[in-house]
Amino acid sequence: MSQGKLIVFSAPSGSGKTTIVKHLLKQPGLNLEFSISATSRDKRGEEINGKDYYFLSAKEFISKIKKDEFLEWEEVYRDNFYGTLKTEVERIWALGKHVIFDIDVSGGLRIKRKFPEQTLAVFVKPPSIDELKIRLKKRKTESDDKINMRVAKASAELATAPLFDVIIENDSLDKALDEAYTLVNNFVNPNA
Ligand code: 5GP
Repeated sequence: MSQGKLIVFSAPSGSGKTTIVKHLLKQPGLNLEFSISATSRDKRGEEINGKDYYFLSAKEFISKIKKDEFLEWEEVYRDNFYGTLKTEVERIWALGKHVIFDIDVSGGLRIKRKFPEQTLAVFVKPPSIDELKIRLKKRKTESDDKINMRVAKASAELATAPLFDVIIENDSLDKALDEAYTLVNNFVNPNA
């Protein structure tokens, strides 16, 4: 099977990485396909099974861990498992496309370590922890407890930024989108 490239976007929750990833997916010249992760967390809002995530029970998730079906997985928040199935990357490569991931920092770095040459690992940095909290509150998708949990985790995640190939500062969204496009385009179309 021919292997494409792997583009990892990692960041604390609320940094805007999902917006950047969605923007890149709309650019036909980049030939990207989204890696749909598996998760055991509850479905949120308008999310669709098999499009946003493969929603599994914790029991199903753990059974797949035991069967070594994941490229990487994490218990990102307590009892909430997230992971990339090996079959997902194979599916996208079989389409002749490059894979783009929206995953947490540990998972992102694990993919970089497994495929060092094929992977571009990008860290999206929010302007500040306070701003991150404001963005999560505006999103109105999580309880205060869950927001506090995400903010606490964000500080530790920010410390891992230097381990990535590149850091994008998301203080102006338009600038971050342009920067992300240029980076990914240079990586997937190096001779263009
Ligand atoms: P959310 O619950 O907001 O959809 O995602 C929570 C966190 O889990 C985000 O940082 C997201 O990037 C991360 N995540 C989503 N999918 C995966 C995955 O397959 N592996 C890992 N390690 N993290 C993931």
